Amino acid sequence: MAKRDYYEVLGVERGASADELKKAYRRLAQKYHPDRNPDDATVQEKFTEAKEAYEVLKDDRKRQAYDQFGHAGVDPSMGGGPGGPGGFQGDVGDIFGDIFGDIFGQGRRGGGRAQARGSDLRFAMELDLEEAVSGVEREIRVPTLGSCKTCKGSGAKDGKKETCGTCGGAGQVRMQQGIFSVQQTCPACHGAGQTIANPCGDCHGQGRVRETRTLSVKIPAGVDNGDRIRLAGEGEAGPNGASPGDLYVEVRVRQHPLFERDGDNLYCEVPVPFTTAALGGELELPTLDGQVKLKVPAETQTGKMFRLRGKGVKSVRSRARGDLMCRVVVETPVKLSREQKDLLRQFDTASGDSATHHPRSRGWLDGVKEFFDRMTP
Ligand SMILES: [Zn+2]
Ligand SMILES: [Zn+2]
Repeated sequence: MAKRDYYEVLGVERGASADELKKAYRRLAQKYHPDRNPDDATVQEKFTEAKEAYEVLKDDRKRQAYDQFGHAGVDPSMGGGPGGPGGFQGDVGDIFGDIFGDIFGQGRRGGGRAQARGSDLRFAMELDLEEAVSGVEREIRVPTLGSCKTCKGSGAKDGKKETCGTCGGAGQVRMQQGIFSVQQTCPACHGAGQTIANPCGDCHGQGRVRETRTLSVKIPAGVDNGDRIRLAGEGEAGPNGASPGDLYVEVRVRQHPLFERDGDNLYCEVPVPFTTAALGGELELPTLDGQVKLKVPAETQTGKMFRLRGKGVKSVRSRARGDLMCRVVVETPVKLSREQKDLLRQFDTASGDSATHHPRSRGWLDGVKEFFDRMTP
């Protein structure tokens, strides 16, 4: 059977926005969801078709490939392809989490009793630029849900569980809502399918207890703002003894008084006295490895950028080292004495035709004149 056009499947224009795609898919998914039409094979086929279309079109890279090559551009049977190995099929759980998370509650479908694992946690870690560049080991204290030690996470004092009488162990019950029959998590066992006769006193039958976990986190050298370090299994303990989630440590780099980072390069602004800029000289520049000397050539203008190779950041990904870019700002002197002012006036007089010594001013004045000439015919 020939495959239908993905846009046609979702009933959207080719130029549809991500939001329109999501809306269209959500509408179809609700209409054709297998939980609502358990015995209708054609409806299930329609659901699969819509899911496939959405999964391709929501991904910019795959959508581009599809727009250009059609189904061949994204067909998983073509192997690899622009979608990349394993890129297309995706994870069913992922798309259900995405679309159904807010409709059907948390991760369950098809009446199964699959236990959700523990929640992932996020922890924001503030670092100085120096710490982010050289790496650091930090102890953090994370408020979390840990597995109850008394009952080993089972929630039962004696370790015994019974099949739930309300749902018969399915974890789900059918509820009538108007003309729809909707599957819902069993209110008695909260989806576990089992109930506890003698709940553990320490966790009140939850199998989990609030705790603050102390962890030592190694931050590798070269991390940047927004980078995340995943600590597998250090998230919340899973309900009813299910596996724990992960902990994501997110790096926030504090603003540095001198340097600004962009990728692997560092940027800084260096004020230079106008005499040094005019006559040339030497400057002491700060780098993350200490002071270095920089020769400033005579007649250096404000805005001039000096590149100090290899004085940037060693990237956590490529291990390549960036540069330090120093932008010169020529500073006008203040609090001048009478003598200094006299000297400057003498300098001005000695300069004669100012344009010779100020080529940029000259060019600018010419531009201004041209501008007014054009305005007044
Ligand atoms: Zn317990
Ligand atoms: Zn139940």
